[in-house]
Amino acid sequence: MTTAAACVAAATLTESATLTATIAAGGFFIDVDHAVDYVVFEQQRDWTPGAFLRYYLGGHVQRAVLVLHSYELFALLGLCAWWTDALALWGYLLGALMHLALDLVFNGEYTPRSISAFYSFTYRMAHGFSMPALLGQQADTLVLPSGFWAAFFRGATLRTPPPRPAAPPLNVTSTAWD
Ligand SMILES: [Zn+2]
Repeated sequence: MTTAAACVAAATLTESATLTATIAAGGFFIDVDHAVDYVVFEQQRDWTPGAFLRYYLGGHVQRAVLVLHSYELFALLGLCAWWTDALALWGYLLGALMHLALDLVFNGEYTPRSISAFYSFTYRMAHGFSMPALLGQQADTLVLPSGFWAAFFRGATLRTPPPRPAAPPLNVTSTAWD
């Protein structure tokens, strides 16, 4: 939604097709690295959108290489953009930075460990790209709504912990007078 709004704003204010297209690329297609991880590093073979979505939102991911979601790449691209002043690069960076900011805010809700460190490639590499080591997240803590679009728009919710077991009944067995 945010990317779409930014694209409309860019198209209206600047009338630049390059800027609009590259903001869209930064905002939407940065998530392509999830698909690359899913196929290459997770070696998943069910390529249907539903299976992919459940795998990610349900917390089943074991590896997070996520090349495009990396501060280091952002810094490198920022340097290139500043050096070349290429509009396409600025556009990509703008879209991708908005995306990353929202990832930081919303994905942080589900993770017990630091989400801001997670988006550093070096940090992920230092943890062997292992999701359990990085985020301490477990699939059995998340619940997904059934249905593709419900899962897509609402995402997972944290499972409420089971109610504490009731205190054991007082040990009244039999009374002496019955
Ligand atoms: Zn993302």
